[in-house]
Amino acid sequence: MKALVLHGKHQIQIEHDFPEPPLGPDCVKIAVSYCGLCGTDIHKYEGKGGSRPVVYPVPLGHEASGIVVETGKQVRDLKAGDRVAVDPNWYCKSCWFCQNGLTHFCENSRGVVKGFAEYICPPRENVYKLPDSLSLRDAALAEPLSCCLHGMDLLDLKTGQTVVIIGLGSIGSIFLQLCRRAGAARCIVVEPQEQKRDLAMRLGASLFLNPEKVHVAEEIRRAGIPNVDRVIECVGLKSTMASALEIAGKGAAVLLFGLGEAGDPMPFDQYAAFQKELTVKTSFINPSSMGRALALLETGVIEVEPLISGVLNMEEMAEELKNRTLFRKGKVLLKVFGEGA
Ligand SMILES: [Zn+2]
Ligand SMILES: [Zn+2]
Repeated sequence: MKALVLHGKHQIQIEHDFPEPPLGPDCVKIAVSYCGLCGTDIHKYEGKGGSRPVVYPVPLGHEASGIVVETGKQVRDLKAGDRVAVDPNWYCKSCWFCQNGLTHFCENSRGVVKGFAEYICPPRENVYKLPDSLSLRDAALAEPLSCCLHGMDLLDLKTGQTVVIIGLGSIGSIFLQLCRRAGAARCIVVEPQEQKRDLAMRLGASLFLNPEKVHVAEEIRRAGIPNVDRVIECVGLKSTMASALEIAGKGAAVLLFGLGEAGDPMPFDQYAAFQKELTVKTSFINPSSMGRALALLETGVIEVEPLISGVLNMEEMAEELKNRTLFRKGKVLLKVFGEGA
């Protein structure tokens, strides 16, 4: 099959006879319609790890939607032609973590979607049938949305609170909508790309601050906002994580959602954190949130169309991994077979 395959740092290749994954008896063969480019794919392209270590050669991509073409012998409730989205994370259900409600830390977990390819064969339990009203294109956003939902679960936002969102990429844009819908009184977006101001306002931001032009914490005070209760960092740089801790107010919780660098820790001002009684949280993948993500997409409660900055073929995606011109603007999708897989 055709696939966009990573062979090592910066070594990406389109291959025409990459082996198809085997169809296990409990698995579903899916022709990939769309697959999103994730920040972790960029990390892998740069020779770093994602949520698990990388084993080469491997097609990138884990945010996939598609159409069932064949089912394994034991699969009874899906059939060829069904439109689906896939949770890329498989768990063993028998290790200590699986048995104790911490499934996403499963010691035997596997990534079952290598979606920059024509076909994937994930286990049935990872496959979600799509409602008719949800497009395959939007369904490719279910996985990143599900990761944000886990972040929201951990953040414990309370109705009426003030939230700061740092970075308005596709993830920041999803969090902005989630916080609005969850009843945040104010959502302040911190983003250096001035052209994203309109999108921020359209998605419900109450204030857009360019950190290259203003001092964010001072500007928030000047706007008469007494306290920043929650901060969501969606970039992953040490500098933006440091500003997340700085912007956070008294009794605040900070969610460091952006993927940081392994082995490159940031400084932490524990005294400042003490004075504010700060809670710092991180969020790892998407336990039990795919179904909710699909429900939010189906009902249109979360809009993803404005977040899509490009729909590319494999040749264009290979270029995009190098240049990241569209990635900087929003969510980039690889179109494999498209709507008519
Ligand atoms: Zn992802
Ligand atoms: Zn397990």
